[in-house]
Amino acid sequence: MLKGKTALITGSTSGIGLATAHTLAEQGVNLVLHGLLAEAEGIALAEEFANKYNIKALFDGANLMDSNAIASFMDRAIDMMGTIDILVNNAGIQHTESIDTFPENKWNAIIAINLTAAFHTIQKSLPGMKANGWGRIINIASVHGLVASLNKCAYVTAKHGLIGLTKVVALECAEQGITANSICPGWVDTPLINNQINEIAQKQQLEFEQAKYNLVTAKQPLPEMMAPRQIGEFILFLCSDNARSITGASLPMDGAWTAQ
Ligand code: NAD
Repeated sequence: MLKGKTALITGSTSGIGLATAHTLAEQGVNLVLHGLLAEAEGIALAEEFANKYNIKALFDGANLMDSNAIASFMDRAIDMMGTIDILVNNAGIQHTESIDTFPENKWNAIIAINLTAAFHTIQKSLPGMKANGWGRIINIASVHGLVASLNKCAYVTAKHGLIGLTKVVALECAEQGITANSICPGWVDTPLINNQINEIAQKQQLEFEQAKYNLVTAKQPLPEMMAPRQIGEFILFLCSDNARSITGASLPMDGAWTAQ
């Protein structure tokens, strides 16, 4: 059903984005891959996808902190691939520190990458989706779009904002065959959280795996990290026709974290 459509996934050189790229490519979806990777490596990744799945694949390394770079990236993607049918705003960064000393440059970077970039990519993708009367926008938020944790002021703010943005887009596009949803994962096994695990390991003098377990179980009742692939499969469902009435939703995949 999705064969021949095009998905643009920000931050698809790693973690959740990369796993989602594989899940969609298996269905014959053409891809715009993106992330902070050296140009040659990015091009090689796109070639690998194109050959393995017999799809069209493009790589772009635009830095999402730069709105001009995002504009060029989106124009190039649309120029080369046609309409972006599926937009997954996934790229994100983290910095944990008390608000007392939270650096302004980290605040600005997190708001730009985790929130403002999605505003720009959505704005650029909507005209094509509207012209086709079909589109899927999936924003990777977090449980931290629904609840807060200590030392994550910028991340929690950005993710709450992303959920708000998603709801407005869902309302504005409800009659045009376009859905917009946020996915709110708990812990996912990706490089993003390694700093947090290393900090616990250092402070509590623990092995990496024990520190990881302690981090997960501190707030998440399900005592395991999710595999990135699980999110890819959920995104695939949201792209299906059966999911056409799921829109404006903030969908937890969080091992009962926010059930408490
Ligand atoms: P990751 O670190 O594995 O991947 C992040 C991706 O974003 C990479 O491709 C990276 O190149 C890209 N990126 C980072 N900064 C960028 C910039 N300035 N410009 C362009 N690209 C940039 O992380 P992940 O865990 O796969 O995270 C993906 C999304 O999932 C993020 O939005 C994150 O907040 C969210 N999330 C992750 C978890 C988790 O436990 N890992 C939980 C909830 C939500």
